[in-house]
Amino acid sequence: MGAPVERTRIRRLPDKAVREREALHAVLDAGLAAHVAFAHEGQPYAIPVAYARAGDTVLFHGSTGSRLFRHLAGGAPCCLSVTLIDGLILARSAFEASMRYRSAMILGTCTVVEDQVPALRAISEHLVPGRWALIRPPSRKELAATLVLALPLSEWSLKVSDGWPETSPDDAGWSPPTGVIPIRTVREAFIEGEA
Ligand SMILES: Cc1cc2nc3c(=O)[nH]c(=O)nc-3n(C[C@H](O)[C@H](O)[C@H](O)COP(=O)(O)OP(=O)(O)OC[C@H]3O[C@@H](n4cnc5c(N)ncnc54)[C@H](O)[C@@H]3O)c2cc1C
Repeated sequence: MGAPVERTRIRRLPDKAVREREALHAVLDAGLAAHVAFAHEGQPYAIPVAYARAGDTVLFHGSTGSRLFRHLAGGAPCCLSVTLIDGLILARSAFEASMRYRSAMILGTCTVVEDQVPALRAISEHLVPGRWALIRPPSRKELAATLVLALPLSEWSLKVSDGWPETSPDDAGWSPPTGVIPIRTVREAFIEGEA
């Protein structure tokens, strides 16, 4: 279980908070892209990146020339989030319209991963299992142009919505179809090609 830290205490609909670390791992393992948020010169940014979980760490990589990566490598605080959308909840009212989702948020500061190749392999394998064995490994020059960052899973929250539409007495007289439109991300058949 993760410790309920004040900054990551879920305030709205706290019954949707999940504290089991295994559930956090499962969401991170199911996602493909994370948004990494940080502030730079007073302006918040949220940048999408590929990532992988390795134990109790999230790994992501980018260019040594990237503002995001240089800023985070310098110890700037960040917030990494992964959101999986499982469905649209169709209620009788606009107010109760909602989504089924699993949403993870991790706060912290990153460290630079010196041993880049295992981390890059972990990201590759997370996205396309088995691919690393088939592809050219990164050259020394490519590694020099790459920053790999690790964010520990120490301060985090997980919110899961898996319910059904709520109805209130004010909905009397309104009877649209109610329920859930399930949504899932599907890997379609591979399309062979090259630029
Ligand atoms: C699904 C997904 C996965 C990605 N995975 C990676 C990854 O693993 N590693 C990686 O380095 N990059 C990844 N990218 C690209 C990444 O989001 C950034 O574009 C890139 O890292 C930022 O480089 P930069 O230094 O030019 O950004 P910055 O200099 O920080 O960006 C300057 C400005 O460009 C705009 N901008 C930058 N990126 C985006 C964007 N993605 N969408 C819209 N506007 C943008 C913003 O307005 C931003 O303020 C991914 C993008 C997507 C959508």
